[in-house]
Amino acid sequence: MSGGFVVAIDGPAGAGKSTVARRVAERLAFALVDTGSLYRAAALLASRAGVRLEDVDGVERCVVEAVDAGRMVLVSGEGGRTRVHLDGIDPGDALRTPEVSMGASAVAAYPGVRSALLAPQRAFGRTQGVVLEGRDIGTVVFPDAALKVFLTATPAARAQRRCDELRAKGVAADYGVTLAEVVQRDRQDSERAIAPLREAADAVRVDSTALGPDAVVDRIVALAEARRAR
Ligand code: C5P
Repeated sequence: MSGGFVVAIDGPAGAGKSTVARRVAERLAFALVDTGSLYRAAALLASRAGVRLEDVDGVERCVVEAVDAGRMVLVSGEGGRTRVHLDGIDPGDALRTPEVSMGASAVAAYPGVRSALLAPQRAFGRTQGVVLEGRDIGTVVFPDAALKVFLTATPAARAQRRCDELRAKGVAADYGVTLAEVVQRDRQDSERAIAPLREAADAVRVDSTALGPDAVVDRIVALAEARRAR
């Protein structure tokens, strides 16, 4: 019975959420929603439309209109992994640039953006087993999730991972710059007034600084199976 069973994986940038969430979803045969891709798509959409990202009203209007018109949607992809589409197209690596990362963190502080993105996220949790990774899944999007994990690691470990990921893709990355970006994004995400990054009271905290992805995945899968068996 996996219908409506929600696994929420929250935590700061670079804690390993994407890799871990993907593998947990595969092991449980659940759908996967990378909610950060929606905030990234919101930033990309606004900048492509020529809206300055500091223009709160302009960005909010742009995102609300795109969600309402079905121009910005989450679609089920390969292996149950959802992808965000803008005007019917998967933006792919355009969502992953450092500029879009910082832009996503900026527009994620806008209340109109957050509320517009709630429905697309929740739509996936009603009928199927699903893993959602983000910042506020256990606190706001699915406060009644069956399992909440707060995945974290030191800023230094997270910056090193981000650099390794970028370099693996052939993108030049400087450790000092990446660390500064990680710290700034943490601050922006934790200090915003609405849905700040924080650990849910009933979350299980997993620190991946010294744990490899296999150990983290095993731990989360074991927790999920124990709760499903209840
Ligand atoms: O996880 P990812 O790095 O792709 O997220 C990009 C940005 O989107 C984050 O820095 C955060 O500001 C925002 N975000 C959010 N709530 C989520 C997921 C992401 O505010 N559930």
